[in-house]
Amino acid sequence: MIASDPGRIDAPFGRTGEPMNDDTVTQFGRSLRGTLIDRKHPGYEEARKLYNAMIDKRPLMIARCADAADVMSAVNFGREQKLPIAIRGGGHSGPGFGSVDDGLVIDLSTMKGVRVDPATSTVRAGPGCTSGDVDHATHAFGLAVPFGIVSTTGIAGLTLGGGSGHLTRKYGLTIDNLIEADVVLADGRFVTASKTQNADLFWALRGGGGNFGVVTSFLFQAHPANIIFGGPVFWEAKDALAVMRAYRDYLPAAPEDLGAFVGLKSVPSTDPFPREYWGKRACAIISCYNGTEEDGRKAMAPLLDNLPPPIFNWMGMMPFPALQALFDPLLPKGLQWYWKGDFVKSLPDEAIATHIAQAAEAPSELSLMHLYPIDGAVRRVGKDETAWNARDATWSMVIAAIDPDPGKAADLTKWAKNYWASIHPHNGEGGYVNFMMDDEGEARVRASYGANYERLSQVKRTYDPSNVFRVNQNIKPAGSTVEGRTAA
Ligand SMILES: Cc1cc2nc3c(=O)[nH]c(=O)nc-3n(C[C@H](O)[C@H](O)[C@H](O)COP(=O)(O)OP(=O)(O)OC[C@H]3O[C@@H](n4cnc5c(N)ncnc54)[C@H](O)[C@@H]3O)c2cc1C
Repeated sequence: MIASDPGRIDAPFGRTGEPMNDDTVTQFGRSLRGTLIDRKHPGYEEARKLYNAMIDKRPLMIARCADAADVMSAVNFGREQKLPIAIRGGGHSGPGFGSVDDGLVIDLSTMKGVRVDPATSTVRAGPGCTSGDVDHATHAFGLAVPFGIVSTTGIAGLTLGGGSGHLTRKYGLTIDNLIEADVVLADGRFVTASKTQNADLFWALRGGGGNFGVVTSFLFQAHPANIIFGGPVFWEAKDALAVMRAYRDYLPAAPEDLGAFVGLKSVPSTDPFPREYWGKRACAIISCYNGTEEDGRKAMAPLLDNLPPPIFNWMGMMPFPALQALFDPLLPKGLQWYWKGDFVKSLPDEAIATHIAQAAEAPSELSLMHLYPIDGAVRRVGKDETAWNARDATWSMVIAAIDPDPGKAADLTKWAKNYWASIHPHNGEGGYVNFMMDDEGEARVRASYGANYERLSQVKRTYDPSNVFRVNQNIKPAGSTVEGRTAA
C-alpha cells in the first residue's frame, strides 16, 4: 500500500549514489499490505518520532509492516538499494536505534497479535507488542512473561537485549523464557529459530540484539502471576545509606518470589505523592512479591523492620499488569533521555557513598539510578548457554538522565557521564546493551558479551555477513572489514 506518491521523496538515492528508480519505490510500496510512509506523507513527522526525544532522525522512508511478507519485501528492498536499515518494535531504544537518517525504517509497531495457550502456558506475540499488550492478554489466564518494569516498552528490543524485570529472580530473563522466534534474515529468507531449528541463531538472538535478522513472531513460556503484593516504598535521601546497605545485604538471599530493585530518584511532584516531599531526592525500593499478602509481608520484613520509617509504603495487593504500568504516567513518550549502564558484582559501602553523592547532583526530578537484581533463576543458566553473558553479576545498574526540556540535554548527558565515570571503577567492564547510548565504542560492546563475543561474531558472519543490520549495538561479522555501526 502506498501512502503518498513514492516518486516524490526528497532524496531518492540509495547508498550506491544511483537515483532510486520511481518504479522501484512504487513497486515496493505496492508489495506491502502495510503502509510506506515517505517524507511527503502527512503522517511522516509523527511516524518518525521516537520515545527518546533527544534523538531526531529523518529516515528516507518508513515501511510500516503488516506481516512477515511485508518484512521480507522491506529487507530485500533496503538491501538491494543499499539503504541503512533500522528495525523498530516499541521504539524505546535509548539511542534511537529504531530509526536511521536517510535510510529505511522497518516499523513493526502494528504487528501486535497475541495468542495465549493456557494448556501449555505459552504465548505467541507479534514484534509490535509492548509488554503491556502481552501482560493484558496473559493476565486473563493468571499468567505473565518476565518483561521489564515499564509497560510501554516494546517486547522485541527488550527481549533481544536480554530483558529483566519484577519476575526475573524467580523465572529468569525474558530470553530465558523465549522458546522460538520467526526471523527474516538479511538475504530475505524466513526461518524459525529454536533449540532444535537454527540453534546457533537462536543462541545469538538471546541477548545479541537486532544484529541477526528481523523477528516477526516470538513464542514465550509464561508463568503463574496474577494478583501480586507489590509497589513502591520511598525514604528520605538522608536514609539512603541505610536503605541501600540493607537492600544489598538482604536481597540476594531473599525468597525468589520477591523481585525488588533499589533506586535513587526524586519524589514526583504530582498527586498522589505527599506534597511536602514533591521534587525532593529520595531512595526507593520497588518490589513485587508473587504470592499472598501474608507471605509478601514476611518476605519484606527483614528488609523493612530494621530501617527508618519511610515517607510512604504503598505496597499492596494489585493485579500484576497494574504494577507493570505504575510508572507509565511519569514517563510518557517525548522526554529527553541519556542512559549509561554497568553490570555490578558487589556493592561496597564506598560504592554506595559514590552513588548517593552523584545522585544528589541530578539535574532534574526524573533523573534516576536503579539497580536491578541479577540472581536466582538468571544464575541457573550457564554463561555460554545464551549470548547474554553476565550471569554472574549481582545487579544491572542503569543511570538514566531524564527531563522534558530539550534545553537540558547537555546537562543531562554531562551528569550521567560524570556519575558513570565515578562509579564505573567499582563495576564490571560491560553493561546491559539495552542501557547504553550509541557512544560507548566497540570495546564496551565486546566487554558486555565477554567470552561470547567471538561466537556472536561467527553467527553474525553466517546470517548477516554484510552487516545489513548494523543500526544497533553492533556485532561485526567475524573476519570482515565491513562497516560497523552506521554514523546515523
Ligand atoms: C522507560 C523504559 C523502561 C525500560 N525498562 C526496562 C526494563 O525494566 N528491563 C529491561 O530489560 N529493559 C528496559 N528498558 C530498555 C529496553 O529494553 C530497550 O530500550 C529496548 O530496546 C526497547 O525495545 P523496543 O522494541 O521498544 O525498542 P526499539 O527502539 O523499537 O528497538 C530497539 C532495537 O531493538 C532491535 N529490534 C527491535 N525490534 C526488533 C525485531 N523485531 N527484530 C530484530 N531486532 C529488533 C533493533 O536493533 C532496534 O533498533 C527500558 C526502556 C525504557 C525507555
